[in-house]
Amino acid sequence: MWPEMDRPYWNEEIETMPLEKLRKLESERLQKQMAYVYRTSPWYAEKFDQAGVRPDSIRDYKDLARLPFTNKTDLTRSQDDGSLVGVNQCAPQDDILRIVGTGGTTGRPLRLPFTANDITVYAEQGARSLWAMGCRPTDTVINVFNYSIYAGGVTGGNSFEYLGATTLPYSVGQTARLFDLLGHLQGTLGLYATPSYAVRLLDRADEEGVDLRALGVKKAFLSGEAGLQIPGYRERIEDGWGMQARDLYGAAEVGAHSAECEHLNGLHWFGSGLVIAELIDPQSLDVIEMHEGAVGELVFTSIQREAGPLVRLRTHDLVEVFTDPCPCGRTSFRFLTRARSDDMFVVKGINVYPLGVQSVLAGLRPRITGEYRIILRAAPPIDYEPELHVEISREVPEAEVASVLAEVREAIRGRLSFTPEVHPVAQGVIASDHKTRRVYRAYDGILPAD
Ligand SMILES: [Zn+2]
Repeated sequence: MWPEMDRPYWNEEIETMPLEKLRKLESERLQKQMAYVYRTSPWYAEKFDQAGVRPDSIRDYKDLARLPFTNKTDLTRSQDDGSLVGVNQCAPQDDILRIVGTGGTTGRPLRLPFTANDITVYAEQGARSLWAMGCRPTDTVINVFNYSIYAGGVTGGNSFEYLGATTLPYSVGQTARLFDLLGHLQGTLGLYATPSYAVRLLDRADEEGVDLRALGVKKAFLSGEAGLQIPGYRERIEDGWGMQARDLYGAAEVGAHSAECEHLNGLHWFGSGLVIAELIDPQSLDVIEMHEGAVGELVFTSIQREAGPLVRLRTHDLVEVFTDPCPCGRTSFRFLTRARSDDMFVVKGINVYPLGVQSVLAGLRPRITGEYRIILRAAPPIDYEPELHVEISREVPEAEVASVLAEVREAIRGRLSFTPEVHPVAQGVIASDHKTRRVYRAYDGILPAD
């Protein structure tokens, strides 16, 4: 029943489609989707009317630029009255089978509805990504994402089954039993986790005297955080587990839309034909043409969605795009995350991106774990030293903590041109089992739970 295992693509036609042909296909689907959205959602209809756009005038990819953006907060706020989905409901509830929450690093989760077709589209996109990462139907994959309303665990795990892999839904915790289970499984084992949970398990294995390399897990499908881009992070996971780690990038709103192929050339876009990705300038909001090296914010428009289609949803993710050909033959653009534009802050005129901080900290392991968070006590302008909490490795004696903190402070000052007030926290406090928040704006009442 399964096509040959060594074929390079899950969906060859769409993944290698010449761009011009893909644009045509996507433009046709866009036309239909916009007509549907206008017909089924009074909220979108009003937005279109206010912008003076008739849905039948949206004929082409480029016409998207005439439509207003959708902000996640508008959708979330519309759910505050207790309605299941709020203004973004385009299908009747008897067709809605599942609700997924955004794994928000900011605010309350947005509830997103899915029909049976929506679930299939989500899984198809995920399967394309996973296949590129090396997942095959003969793999046995342990899913250690948290089983919650967030997309990673249940809905993300679906993509493995859709691809045909054997999955063991395990969720988080009970690590001794997990290690025991893995130790008793044969075959090609894969791990589906957040990067920071893969690292957390390294620590747990250490404490319990388990040799992870002996468990035979060979493939890691890591998602939910930008961790693998941090120098040294991938190597640490690969060395500790004796496995190959690949990066899978997704958002609850559109699914696991991007992933690395074997050439590790950035993240390939796998939403072709299902979601249109635009690049915009986050300040002027103008569309930026995708070309090698272009930097901008990703904006998503669903073109194959029934329950809650999204029209020009702003992601606030700043990415750098690559369009030079990849040896794997896929024709979609690739990108690397530069920052969440929301997480960027300015200290005395210097733009600070959390990923930059993370890179510097990665270079100071193993005395610190590399996990961190930043706390901004007072509203901008930030003319004070932001608090930087770093996890001190448990091997570091108490007497040496002060010198480690001083070293962190110097390294940040030297590399990023701002000076933080560095605080120690115990190993294991910061990393979480879904998206780890890095920046806390205490002046907005947002503080770590511990
Ligand atoms: Zn490639």
